[in-house]
Amino acid sequence: MSIIDTHAHLSDLEEKETIIGNARKAGVAAIVAVGANHATNLRTLEWAQAYPGYVFPALGIHPTEFADDDISASLSFIREKISKCVAVGEIGLDYWDRETRKNKDVREQQRRIYTEQLGIARERGLPTSVHGRGSWKDALELAVEHGPEAVVFHWYSGPLDILSEVLDGGYYISATPAAEYSRDHRAALENAPLERIIIETDSPVYMRNRRRNSEPADTVVTLRALAKLKDADESEVARVTTGNAKKFFKI
Ligand SMILES: [Zn+2]
Repeated sequence: MSIIDTHAHLSDLEEKETIIGNARKAGVAAIVAVGANHATNLRTLEWAQAYPGYVFPALGIHPTEFADDDISASLSFIREKISKCVAVGEIGLDYWDRETRKNKDVREQQRRIYTEQLGIARERGLPTSVHGRGSWKDALELAVEHGPEAVVFHWYSGPLDILSEVLDGGYYISATPAAEYSRDHRAALENAPLERIIIETDSPVYMRNRRRNSEPADTVVTLRALAKLKDADESEVARVTTGNAKKFFKI
């Protein structure tokens, strides 16, 4: 059985050998490592260089992670290095935080940076991994208008009517270990066909039901939870979602 972690912040993990060893043992055949700002983009490229053919890099500016960045320099860096990458990501919008929800300027800035990166993905014919917490409708509308054909709405946990639009648009959603406990995420996964789902860990995000941080080896946690939700064999869910990931990222 082979599975792919399609979204991990390896830049935030140390102990490279252990992390990769654990992932291989768990049947993880490849990892798509995403960046979130300039510093993590640099570290993401280092990981990819250390494990060629196993760690595939994506570069991006995350909507809540750019405070320390010179945005135009970070975007130039992404443009310069993106030809070595399999995707643009993690990019998107995040209106979850109360301050952001109230602050029109912050939301505007997020939309500008997101739109610019959707443009890079479209120009280069690359897929993109989109974060849309609390902002699913805007994240989708901008992706339709400015983005590439291949978009995955990472950890989708938004309204089901917007999920229908995501699926009608030919886009994907990803499943994370929150498939074990998050009501909204589980509802989305139940309502999307397996053919439009890829799996991931969002490592090292905290898995609240397991009271520990995730690592790429936990792609099996996601796989098992998704198989349960779909009432399907784990091997079948692995086969379909790995096929989806290979097609999506062209790896
Ligand atoms: Zn992420």
